[in-house]
Amino acid sequence: MSADCVFCSIIKGDLPSEVVVSTDRVVAFRDIAPQAPVHVVVVPREHHTDVAALAAVDPATLADLVEVAGEVAEREADGEYRLVFNTGPDAGQSVFHAHGHVLAGRKLAWPPG
Ligand code: AMP
Repeated sequence: MSADCVFCSIIKGDLPSEVVVSTDRVVAFRDIAPQAPVHVVVVPREHHTDVAALAAVDPATLADLVEVAGEVAEREADGEYRLVFNTGPDAGQSVFHAHGHVLAGRKLAWPPG
């Protein structure tokens, strides 16, 4: 856990969120500023700075995260979705706790902005 990390606060229950899936290794909750009708953030319970750090240290949890993302999309959007890992400030990462965005429920443009 990281003391000043917003996602660690959500995982601890110190900050409210709408949790949609909770397992022993990952938590999925609705994004506070949704960019699509379905916008769920899936995070590892343990603090890692980004997806590359998570992959290096704990690939099994990354596999769980991807599986949970697919389950959410299956349940909420018939399995059609985009899974995004913004990595680094120039790529749009603003919370430095590894997370995947599940975006679905509308036609998604390509390439992203
Ligand atoms: P990123 O910009 O890729 O790091 O994604 C961070 C995401 O976390 C953004 O889409 C934010 O809207 C979302 N976010 C920030 N604070 C909260 C919160 N308290 N509850 C839910 N989502 C949040």
